[in-house]
Amino acid sequence: DMAFAKLRSQMGVLPPDAVIINANENPLGPCKAACDAIAQIAPMGGRYDRVGEGDLFVKEYAAMHGLKPENIAVYAGSSEPLHYTVLAFTGPTRGLVSADPSYESAAAAAEVSGAPVRKVALTKTFAHDVKAMVAADPSAGLIYICNPNNPTGTITPREEILWALENKPKGSVLLVDEAYIHLSDEQTVFDQVAAGKDLIVLRTFSKIYGMAGIRCGVAVGRPDLLAKLVPYYQNAMPITALAAARASIADAELIPSRKKWLADTRTDTLAWLKANGYKPIGESHSNCFMIDTGRDAHSVIAGLQKEKVYIGRVWPVWPQAVRVSVGTPEDMARFKTAFKKVMDAPPT
Ligand code: PLP
Repeated sequence: DMAFAKLRSQMGVLPPDAVIINANENPLGPCKAACDAIAQIAPMGGRYDRVGEGDLFVKEYAAMHGLKPENIAVYAGSSEPLHYTVLAFTGPTRGLVSADPSYESAAAAAEVSGAPVRKVALTKTFAHDVKAMVAADPSAGLIYICNPNNPTGTITPREEILWALENKPKGSVLLVDEAYIHLSDEQTVFDQVAAGKDLIVLRTFSKIYGMAGIRCGVAVGRPDLLAKLVPYYQNAMPITALAAARASIADAELIPSRKKWLADTRTDTLAWLKANGYKPIGESHSNCFMIDTGRDAHSVIAGLQKEKVYIGRVWPVWPQAVRVSVGTPEDMARFKTAFKKVMDAPPT
């Protein structure tokens, strides 16, 4: 997250006992097999990918998901293809439609492409309001759906996304960001790519796979749509990231075990919040959730920071809500103590 980078630069180095639950990272980091694969391939890092690691990754990832290799483009994280998709499909006469609150990166890229941005409120259950999003801009170039949503962790049911795909304005493309999908029980929309729809799906290795600092992500789409991203930039992939990603997807236990580990801590934290009269917003199926604090969210963030607990940023549409990432059980124990202390004090 940009906010994390900014925070670090403002603060210098975070204190060693800081609880870092501000950027939806995975405290488990890369799995053992991924670390081993990185160590093994590192000596070959003097050259570009001469060992075909990228082709192998694409082949394996495609086979695993019922896709063709030409449906997959690999990047150093999903931020790159997210930005390039916005640059490629939006402009002054082709708007961007996004939910609010949602991940801000798409709207940030639209400032570069000069596209008008329509931000559409979430529904009462904090799903994307696909009917309103589809109606928001008849000349939309791109409609961005983040499922589960960042910052709320809430789900937009698959049927709603399929409805958007069938009913979106002519000539527009749907961008479905599945960064957090493995943390939920939701089904992917990869099958709609295989069916040839106007759709790009983003996945990242930064979340459940714990590789935010290693950098690997994929854009999945029709080859003609993926080709539109190419002119914006094509970087060489780090072979360490490719090797780590291959090792990670080969680990059949990783997703189910990490999903449960995280859900247990999330469930416990949300139950504690409710039992203590605090107000989590909606139902998170992800590694982050929001809390309506009933006061200026920035003051809560600052109060927690004094306790060395670093939580996420504020979305202007909800000035009293804070986003909290799910860390380790120990992180969340520290969070609970600090949050109660801050909330027990009168609002500043
Ligand atoms: N999409 C969503 C919804 C995110 O929350 C993030 C990071 O927080 C990203 C994309 C980009 O992450 P990365 O570039 O590490 O894949």
